[in-house]
Amino acid sequence: MESKQFLNIVEEFGAPLYVYDAAKITSQYQRLTNAFEGVSNVRLNYAAKALSNLSILRLMKHLGSGLDTVSIQEVRLGLMAGFQPESIIYTPNGVSLEEIEEAAVLGVQINIDNLSVLEQFGNKHPDVPVCIRINPHVMAGGNSNISVGHIDSKFGISIHQIPHLLRIVELTDMNINGIHMHTGSDILDIDVFLYASEILFETAKNFKDLEFIDFGSGFKVPYKTGDIETNIEELGKKLSQRFNEFCEDYGRPLTLAFEPGKFLVSEAGYFLAKVNVVKQTTSTVFAQVDSGFNHLIRPMLYGAQHEIINISNPKGRERYYSVVGYICETDTFGNNRRINEITEGDILAFRNAGAYCFTMASNYNSRYRPAEVLWLDGQAHLIRERESFDDILRNQVDPKELFESDEKKVALK
Ligand SMILES: *Cc1c(COP(=O)(O)O)cnc(C)c1O
Repeated sequence: MESKQFLNIVEEFGAPLYVYDAAKITSQYQRLTNAFEGVSNVRLNYAAKALSNLSILRLMKHLGSGLDTVSIQEVRLGLMAGFQPESIIYTPNGVSLEEIEEAAVLGVQINIDNLSVLEQFGNKHPDVPVCIRINPHVMAGGNSNISVGHIDSKFGISIHQIPHLLRIVELTDMNINGIHMHTGSDILDIDVFLYASEILFETAKNFKDLEFIDFGSGFKVPYKTGDIETNIEELGKKLSQRFNEFCEDYGRPLTLAFEPGKFLVSEAGYFLAKVNVVKQTTSTVFAQVDSGFNHLIRPMLYGAQHEIINISNPKGRERYYSVVGYICETDTFGNNRRINEITEGDILAFRNAGAYCFTMASNYNSRYRPAEVLWLDGQAHLIRERESFDDILRNQVDPKELFESDEKKVALK
């Protein structure tokens, strides 16, 4: 997409605004599919939490994807978007037995990640096939917030608890049809991933009725120049071979499943915000946009580096800026960024804004969540309206009468 197209979209729908390029999502989907073409049964289950707009879910379904969900609400969104229940996997963490039962009634694939719920569920519903989430205790990626396979993580059933797990399965006579791991976002090292996969294969041998093995996700995409990207092609080659070998040993072809979020949608997304104020201080020049961590929290929450470009002045000379928001709270998007000269009113584009950006937005400072636009076949489609004041008031119970009755007036005096 080009600057001019973004500017036209802002003109039509206003700022701040999220734009998603359908062509990029499609090409990422195909890249991943191609990387694993050596395996006969491959399932990609798009992780809905990365970007859960109905139109994106429909696009994923159109591409042939299944859906990975982490809440009953995401399951319902998936069903609304037209996914068949059997192409939805439900992988919650720490939710109630009741919510898991609700999902089972809807017919989606259940994935259980703790022994307590596994035992309760198996006792009550031994006929419902269940996938189990294993924690292989492998550190993939460096940041402890996003490495969920390691020893202190709350996710998954520890491989050290396999004897207990097997006992529960045997005593309840439940059917384990899948094995799953998700070692967390940002896999830098393919060898680490393959190492964790071996642990999964080893675990899988304990179950004779498996239909699939799910390797989760965590594929890394570049955020800034020089960033490492997961070499999907190399991983595809190595893991496909190992997977086929395993199936041979196992005696049956199984389905190889993945649940990518970031890999499919991150680079397709752009967040567009308008510069309200250029503020020179003694130490820096601030460019203040009509946004903040209420719209894009990743830089503040994870230190994520989203590249920022001035699409209003793409040829202007480069200067250093601190790009911040308008929230009454420190909301720095980027420090000391070299950006083409910024004038008040310019539109800045934040790259990699497809994954975990809109879905983490809030109404902090009583601001509206932005609109979302899908760029498809050379046309901009509004896929979510900007919020309005009604949305801020929605569900609030106006307490006016509490303070206006005569008795209260007296009481408050
Ligand atoms: C979040 C999540 C994913 C997606 O992770 P990405 O890093 O966005 O690819 C996959 N599986 C599970 C269980 C998740 O919670």
